[in-house]
Amino acid sequence: MLITGGSRGIGAATARLAAARGYDVVITFVRSADAADAVVAECESTGARALAVRADVADEADVVAAFATTVAEVGPIAAFVNNAGTLHPAMRLDEFDVERLRDVMAVNVIGAIVALREAVRHMSTRHGGAGGAIVNVSSAASYLGSPNEYIDYAATKGALDTVTIGLAKEVASEGVRVNAVRPGLIYTDIHELSGIEDRVEKLSVHVPMQRGGDADEVAEAILWLASDAASYVTGSFINTSGGR
Ligand code: NAP
Repeated sequence: MLITGGSRGIGAATARLAAARGYDVVITFVRSADAADAVVAECESTGARALAVRADVADEADVVAAFATTVAEVGPIAAFVNNAGTLHPAMRLDEFDVERLRDVMAVNVIGAIVALREAVRHMSTRHGGAGGAIVNVSSAASYLGSPNEYIDYAATKGALDTVTIGLAKEVASEGVRVNAVRPGLIYTDIHELSGIEDRVEKLSVHVPMQRGGDADEVAEAILWLASDAASYVTGSFINTSGGR
């Protein structure tokens, strides 16, 4: 299983659970080499093979190289988790500058689509692959819209939802299933980028289950969608959002 952004948060939880379930795991990171090494060590402690690769998903060459390294050093890719993502400080749309828009689109939309292109090139039977499963990490923001915080981020996740629907149909007859999870408020570092202190606690009053979620609870859904237990599921979404 190849996971982009596996050094922290949902990607790291997915890597640990995947290793425990018998996958060999490759994670990518950009800045957190130490955190990535720690995740690799935890995965290896279960007997899995694990590898961390530095790759900025906004850099096409990095993404292409990450897939090639995975295949060369660990083997064919059975599952791809398109998880890396970013966001910018909370503000209204009428305050956005173009730099933040370019960055969030470069990582969450263009980076995610380039990674999907590489996944299809490696996994689809059309390209000589053995098939497999892709799980996109979208967000509840795609249907909530994130007003007064980051409508731009929400729009990137809306785009990822649309890509999930289209790509699932495009490669359904080529052995590749494409699904997505839509996490709600999950306890990870990403909220620090919003500039809102204790964002998950503050907003969890709006969650029907009245709490934020753990990265492990999202990882469970990702692992199910990637597994053979979901063999007749493609183009589908699991909202891991406590009812929000
Ligand atoms: P996180 O804890 O901040 O971790 C982000 C991960 O992505 C890190 O491993 C980071 O690597 C990596 N990353 C960031 N920018 C990258 C880039 N340009 N190229 C490659 N990797 C990059 O975030 P998270 O909450 O786990 O988020 C993971 C995914 O879940 C994102 O797509 C996010 O939009 C989505 N999501 C999260 C929530 C939530 O409440 N947490 C809710 C809905 C959706 P470094 O460690 O090297 O920086």
